[in-house]
Amino acid sequence: MRRQRESARRGDIRVRCRGNAGSDESPSVTLFTVGPEPNHHIGNAQCPECADEYPEPCRCGGLMHAAGAEENADGTMQLTTRCDRCGRSEDQLDER
Ligand SMILES: [Zn+2]
Ligand SMILES: [Zn+2]
Repeated sequence: MRRQRESARRGDIRVRCRGNAGSDESPSVTLFTVGPEPNHHIGNAQCPECADEYPEPCRCGGLMHAAGAEENADGTMQLTTRCDRCGRSEDQLDER
């Protein structure tokens, strides 16, 4: 089954707010860059910096992170996606 891509959503990108949900930032977290800032947590399925509904499982077994977002002239939001294991974006994974 093919997932509906949502790379052009209107401005509903927001960072998750997790309050005090047990394990906060562990000191061993490794950050990597998606979009403008190196603030995504490798291997963290609850990555606090990801856009809504991310990270998602990548087909390589890693996690696909997404950072928002540039607003285009027509008002759509463009997500930047990158896997924390294989380093590919969703767009690259679609090319076959
Ligand atoms: Zn992330
Ligand atoms: Zn991957």
